[in-house]
Amino acid sequence: MTEFLENFPLANLTTFKLGGNARYFTECRNTDGMLDAIRFAESKNIRYHILGGGSNTIFSDDGFDGLVLKIASRGIQFVREPDGVMIVAAAGEQWDDVVKFCIRSGLGGVECLSGIPGLVGATPIQNVGAYGQEVAETILEVKAIDLLTLRTVRFRNSECRFGYRRSRFNQEDTGKFIITEVAFKLNTVVQPEIRYPELRSFIASSIEMEKLASEAEKLEAVRNGVLALRRKKSMVIDESDPNSQSAGSFFKNPVLTQDKFDHLLDLCRKNGIEDSPPTFPSGEGVKVPAAWLLEKAGFHKGFRKGGVGVSANHALALVNYGGTTRELLLLAEEIQSAIVQQFGILLEREPVLVQ
Ligand SMILES: Cc1cc2nc3c(=O)[nH]c(=O)nc-3n(C[C@H](O)[C@H](O)[C@H](O)COP(=O)(O)OP(=O)(O)OC[C@H]3O[C@@H](n4cnc5c(N)ncnc54)[C@H](O)[C@@H]3O)c2cc1C
Repeated sequence: MTEFLENFPLANLTTFKLGGNARYFTECRNTDGMLDAIRFAESKNIRYHILGGGSNTIFSDDGFDGLVLKIASRGIQFVREPDGVMIVAAAGEQWDDVVKFCIRSGLGGVECLSGIPGLVGATPIQNVGAYGQEVAETILEVKAIDLLTLRTVRFRNSECRFGYRRSRFNQEDTGKFIITEVAFKLNTVVQPEIRYPELRSFIASSIEMEKLASEAEKLEAVRNGVLALRRKKSMVIDESDPNSQSAGSFFKNPVLTQDKFDHLLDLCRKNGIEDSPPTFPSGEGVKVPAAWLLEKAGFHKGFRKGGVGVSANHALALVNYGGTTRELLLLAEEIQSAIVQQFGILLEREPVLVQ
């Protein structure tokens, strides 16, 4: 029997720890529970919102006048195949538990994604990525409930339309599916490939990789390197670190056409900025770090406004230091308009606003 709780506080279900109450709340441990919840919302003629780990979610101070449906399904299957291993994980598994499981099993492909909070079901949505890896590289298939027909559907990797922090699930198909399971294809014969320069030099300076005997040990060493770097930037959830009360990066790094990038360089010169923005390789254009734009626009690490601010350890993370959603959104708008004015670029918000 699916239980529906009324007037349920939402703040502690998110990493921002912000937001009011949900009119109704339920936890779904399996597909039947999810279908029950949808039918419940339909019978009451109310909206529903799918919640994973709440690490990319901002709830309004007024809460949500509908049903919040929390994904709580569990299970990880290990399927050996001739050319690798397939891991099938339920949407409600913690993503980092899946990463640990893969590393312990000597499976490569997700080690650089260590320490990212949230649940498996959300990983395909914004094509979670860090330190030169993205889930799109290992996702084989996404299983979901089609919210129009309530039937199960499957998407092969190429059908997910992955890009930088995007997929069909946060673009044209936003809100159309509940992801119930994700299958990943991982590599058994691995020499961890470390593409991100900061991680490469950190590992080179702290670990003698060639002395490690097994693949699992090498993957574990990469994981430890990633976690150490993430901790320094408050990018792992740590109750004792106030700077981690965030959603990670608040804005996506803008990807500019060459013309727009040249225009940005002109504006930088006009604004008396001597250094040029660093750029990342991106198949889709020129990727500029949003953190650089924030700092140049005066929103440096540690900037505070009321109960919210910019993380003291990462210029791209907005943090709740005891404020409200309203304050957070006002700060985000202030940053966006300053950057539009100075650089002609509208930064896109990464976390999802639910109101
Ligand atoms: C400290 C910190 C560091 C972070 N670092 C990174 C990083 O390095 N890289 C990165 O990419 N992200 C990062 N993030 C962002 C976040 O962790 C990821 O986006 C994560 O995948 C969100 O998962 P979640 O389960 O918490 O999603 P939620 O916040 O619960 O949901 C996010 C969105 O997905 C939808 N959704 C969730 N589950 C499902 C489902 N099963 N079916 C359909 N829709 C669903 C929700 O409706 C919502 O629209 C970070 C966040 C924090 C707080």
